[in-house]
Amino acid sequence: MKVRLLVPSVAPNSRLHFPFSVLIDDHIAIDTCGLPYLDPIEAQRAVDQILLTHSHIDHVGGLPLFLDNTYRPDHSCPTIYASEATWDAVSKHLLNDVIWPDLEKIADSETPFFKKQIVDVHRPISIDGYQVTAIPLEHVVPTLGYIFQGEGASVLFCWDTAPFPEFENIVAAIPNLKAIFLDASFPNELRWLAEKSEHTTPGQFGQLVAQIPADVRIIAIHLKPGHHDELIDELNQLGLPNLEIADPHTVYEF
Ligand SMILES: [Zn+2]
Ligand SMILES: [Zn+2]
Repeated sequence: MKVRLLVPSVAPNSRLHFPFSVLIDDHIAIDTCGLPYLDPIEAQRAVDQILLTHSHIDHVGGLPLFLDNTYRPDHSCPTIYASEATWDAVSKHLLNDVIWPDLEKIADSETPFFKKQIVDVHRPISIDGYQVTAIPLEHVVPTLGYIFQGEGASVLFCWDTAPFPEFENIVAAIPNLKAIFLDASFPNELRWLAEKSEHTTPGQFGQLVAQIPADVRIIAIHLKPGHHDELIDELNQLGLPNLEIADPHTVYEF
């Protein structure tokens, strides 16, 4: 499994976690904000499976522009997976004929812009050789984490969440777990904001991963760009030997 953190290419040398996508094997994406800036357009057209975690703008905001960039009238459209709650929000508030055209409606009898799939939690689906299982996270709107199980390696993608009690059991049940991409959004002094918006601080992050075996790579992600350096300092102070900060310039292999 090849994983990249895809941030807008308008900042090619930056390490900041601007609203992003995670790209798996160059053709599966989780969330959308890195996608519409991927150059060349052929690299965008190669992305044919997209999973949405939730409805917040820093996760679905790239979707209209990506579909606009990649549409071709030849049935090669991407499949998009999301929970029913996220699809409802996207229909009502994004592809709603105000913020962006209702692409399902305007395609009508023409070739579609996307194929819509509803994801249920704890019900594995098969995507290009991976068994993908959605898990419910603890966030202010319904939000999914995704477990990808491939041959000999599993990875948990888990951002936009407050700490939640089932985390440890979910992690313990994943076979061949090699890595967890885990939310670290706000510095410790903004714990009140992390709590109200249901994200994770480095202090909480340390408690969450305390029981995870040291051979699992813990990769901090969703560091709010305005607090990037402070978050890195606080995460490094945890002294975790298996901690990494997600880096847009690294290709992760599992
Ligand atoms: Zn977010
Ligand atoms: Zn969110």
